[in-house]
Amino acid sequence: MTLDLQNENRELRRQLRELLSEARENERKLDRFQALELRLVAATGLAEIISLLSSALPRASRLDHMGLLLSDISGEIGLELAEAGIIPVPGQLELNPPVRLPTGVYLGPYEPQRHGRYCAGRTDLGSIAMLPLRRSADMQSEPLGTLVFGSRDPGRYGLGVDSFFLERMAAITAVCIENALNLRRLRELGLTDPLTGLRNRRYFDEQLPMECQRARREQGPLACLFVDIDRFKSINDVHGHPAGDQAIREVAQRISAHVRPFDLLARYGGEEFVILLSRLDAAATREVAERVRQAVAQRPVSLADGPELELSVSLGGAVCARWDSRDEPEQTGRRLMEAADLALLEAKQSGRNRVVMAAARTGLFGRIGG
Ligand code: GH3
Ligand code: MG
Ligand code: MG
Repeated sequence: MTLDLQNENRELRRQLRELLSEARENERKLDRFQALELRLVAATGLAEIISLLSSALPRASRLDHMGLLLSDISGEIGLELAEAGIIPVPGQLELNPPVRLPTGVYLGPYEPQRHGRYCAGRTDLGSIAMLPLRRSADMQSEPLGTLVFGSRDPGRYGLGVDSFFLERMAAITAVCIENALNLRRLRELGLTDPLTGLRNRRYFDEQLPMECQRARREQGPLACLFVDIDRFKSINDVHGHPAGDQAIREVAQRISAHVRPFDLLARYGGEEFVILLSRLDAAATREVAERVRQAVAQRPVSLADGPELELSVSLGGAVCARWDSRDEPEQTGRRLMEAADLALLEAKQSGRNRVVMAAARTGLFGRIGG
């Protein structure tokens, strides 16, 4: 009897130790998850969220596989990742994967035939968890993406496994991604000109020193072109302001067609545009300027309500061809713009509808030549 009691007592203590150890393990898990959740919430952009998910999360939860599949119809996630230098990797980070994103939670055995397409065809996993990323609790809404956790252990994810932590992590991730996208959209709005859809002056001014820095690092030329519509005031006076707006939009489109995707074209003021071109010398820059001039002058702009406008633009350009380590990017950028602006003034004064390139001999900026 005493022996039985002793045995039972020993067994109860063993069970208690086991439960305590499980509770401690859960507490540690909660701590690890919470620390990661806090970092996710504090992340300032999509790139940071993705790097936390792809490096910190697998470490914190000892995963053998971690995948983030995102739907990116508008392409803005792709743009943001490209800007941050993040390259998608099949199975780990995929945009618009060629599979339908699951709409419900799955925890269970890993079946390569069924689940391989979400995990780049891996065959070494035992169990997986697939969690839809939803911005709201609305189960009907299309998921933003899917989080995929995989383990070699067949028992890690499956029946009886509490999915609370996982679903919570997915919910927080979805909100953080949505928030980062909203911040991006807001920032984009603040940097985009609503009339033409081009970058605005604020964006240009922000980028100019960075472009100078890059050109100095590459020891390559950087060119600036100012484009101003000729005698624009009279268009507003004769045809009205809305017609003037249409003309500005059309000129913006014609200029866009002649710059490369990586050149920076912005609407700098009312009917004035600015272009930063890299890796072009003065002669090539003049050719681009001449093509822009012709694109505007060669055929009239048709307005929605009938009249056709004969428009022309004048262009002033300057090129910084050589750099030395004493050049301050901000100052160089300012001088490059001043030289292009003066060249534009000369184009206006000498008759309009023409291109003038700043010459080195103006002494404005010794190494800006044309
Ligand atoms: P110039 O050949 O010397 O450039 O002559 P200009 O008439 O174009 O002279 P200026 O560049 O000084 O005039 C710009 C005019 O552009 C003044 C303003 O009425 C008009 N403008 C500025 N912003 C807008 C805009 O957003 N929409 C419209 N419709 N007109 C604008
Ligand atoms: Mg003008
Ligand atoms: Mg002007």
